[in-house]
Amino acid sequence: MREQKEEDITMDFFESVYHGEPPWDIGRPQKEYIQLEQAGEIVGSVLDVGCGTGENALYLAAQGHEVWGIDFVPTAIQKAQEKAAQRHLAATFLVLNVLELHTLGRTFDTVIDSGLFHSLSHEERPIFVDNLAAVIRRGGTYFMLCFSELTPVPDFSTLKDFMPDFSEFKPEDYERLRVTQAEIKESFQDGWRINYIKQATLEARLGPNEVYGWLSSISKE
Ligand code: SAH
Repeated sequence: MREQKEEDITMDFFESVYHGEPPWDIGRPQKEYIQLEQAGEIVGSVLDVGCGTGENALYLAAQGHEVWGIDFVPTAIQKAQEKAAQRHLAATFLVLNVLELHTLGRTFDTVIDSGLFHSLSHEERPIFVDNLAAVIRRGGTYFMLCFSELTPVPDFSTLKDFMPDFSEFKPEDYERLRVTQAEIKESFQDGWRINYIKQATLEARLGPNEVYGWLSSISKE
């Protein structure tokens, strides 16, 4: 039998969660992205990495941006395509691993990330950052919304209501979700300019706990 790679386990995990209702899939855009758009920070063409079922991407498409969204879970991409059709919005959704973004063969003015970076392993993050550099134009900006170390390790008993399949998820898997500012700075030290890292809130259906995060604005030099 083929040995299962860590990446396959993550993909299986996400695929199974999308057969139900993932706690992050709130059915509307994250308020941090609404605020960025209203403040005029999101410019031009947009790529949403790890777009899930596409709420952030579709919101930006509705505001007139040319938008592509990619995710490695076919079920999520199918849901995003169905929503785009129902809402009569033009957005391109593709199944793709973010570690292979360079195969898109084009660049975007802006890249958005809501909850993707923090789900990558420490080995995957530098590969992702190299791929990101291939799809963002010089001077273009990557906005990243991720969990921070201020977020408590989730309570397993609440989580299993949302994610029956998360038994595969171990406490150490949660640890990598809790990204520090130092980790963000380290990941983007070569060829990038960090404009800001702000405290932010991620909206989720996770019970009473607030989910603390960082909102980063990072431009390619
Ligand atoms: N941005 C969405 C989903 C956040 S959850 C939202 O805000 O609702 C993180 C997403 O990243 C999941 O949809 C998961 O399938 C996707 N993902 C994780 N690792 C990935 C990878 N290596 N390549 C592509 N997508 C990935």
